[in-house]
Amino acid sequence: MTKTHILRFASLSRGWIDDCAMGSCRKQDSSFIRIPNPFVIKKSQFCAAISICCLWLEIAVPSRGIVFTITIGDGHKKNFRNFTPASAYVGRLAPAPTGALHLGNARTFLVAWLRARLAGGRLLLRLEDLDHPKMKPGAAIEAYRDLSWLGLDWDAGPDASFPPFASHSVSCGESCDKTFVQSHRTAFYASFLDRLRRDGRAYPCACSRKDLESFRSAPNAGEDLTECRYPGTCRDRFDSVAAARAVAGCREIGWRFRLEDEASERFVDGFFGHQEIRLDSWSGDFLIARGKQAGYQLAVVADDSAQGVTEVVRGADLLPSTGRQLALYRSLDLEPPAFFHVPLVTGPDGRRLAKRHGDSRLSRLRNAGRTPERVLGWLAKSLRWQENPGPTTLAEICAACAFDRIPRVPIMATPEDLAWLGMD
Ligand SMILES: [Zn+2]
Repeated sequence: MTKTHILRFASLSRGWIDDCAMGSCRKQDSSFIRIPNPFVIKKSQFCAAISICCLWLEIAVPSRGIVFTITIGDGHKKNFRNFTPASAYVGRLAPAPTGALHLGNARTFLVAWLRARLAGGRLLLRLEDLDHPKMKPGAAIEAYRDLSWLGLDWDAGPDASFPPFASHSVSCGESCDKTFVQSHRTAFYASFLDRLRRDGRAYPCACSRKDLESFRSAPNAGEDLTECRYPGTCRDRFDSVAAARAVAGCREIGWRFRLEDEASERFVDGFFGHQEIRLDSWSGDFLIARGKQAGYQLAVVADDSAQGVTEVVRGADLLPSTGRQLALYRSLDLEPPAFFHVPLVTGPDGRRLAKRHGDSRLSRLRNAGRTPERVLGWLAKSLRWQENPGPTTLAEICAACAFDRIPRVPIMATPEDLAWLGMD
């Protein structure tokens, strides 16, 4: 029995298929693959394969009533019958376990959750834990608890028992689903870097931290070195990778994306509307990897594409990143998702909500006995979906929400708000 079904995918890369270890999937062209039915998966890959299949089917199958039989190595069978495709919408919650989630994160995640749920789509949870020096032990499990406490659920993501939720030092066994944990996907991202290198779009950079400090005087340079405009020092500096390594010495070399001349990206943000980002004056050639480790921009593009994300909902502080990511999508021949950026929450001084404004960690509110309804009430008021911050539920928010009513400027958490929530 070798009946085949052809599934259509919006964007699927060879790397994604390899990553899923589904050897029997064969890429036909950039948007079609053929899956023999039944096809065999190793037992150790069962959980990952089933969740990926469910995801694929929901995203991709254009008609109803198809029966898929997945035969596992030891003889178990799993049938998917009379499958009803859901909406094509796929969103994601992507916490970075670099610190505790606070009110501002909660507000963005609430909007992301609502966009997916109201579209009848799927929501993924992905841990963006690539920035190792800034990782906080236990932050992943706290994020997981915070989101669950607020009632924000997801359809696919790492298991609750997955090591990052417990400890970074525990190694992951064969049976773990590593798809949604960025620190476990080094080889997957490397295939994207290889492609960019082959195409002449990535070059080695041997600049030291001190060199990067000296670029601070450039326009747009903030406190964060990654936001300094790179002047292209290493653009045509090295004949070989070895030459760059020789200059870098014991430091890992970086890899930068080579922008086109006067590169700019235009797109229509789902919230802020038409945008144009001048990449040459904003970031210059930007870092996409250091050593073997992919950087944020490349990993996010690879994951959003491979995981079939159709809309990225995130904080407005990442709006400039969108330009860089669109440039990567284009050079990798990948279809970009839509974007919806949510204005930030600031403290009474107008600066982005942070520790100095009082402790707005969700975990603290949770441990102090505040109810999720109280926090949701404040969030709904801040989004202009209710007049006062009185307690509310997710169901009530679903009925009341209107994305076009969200204030277009950052919302301030006033001292009264913070007192109402019970913060110091
Ligand atoms: Zn350099």
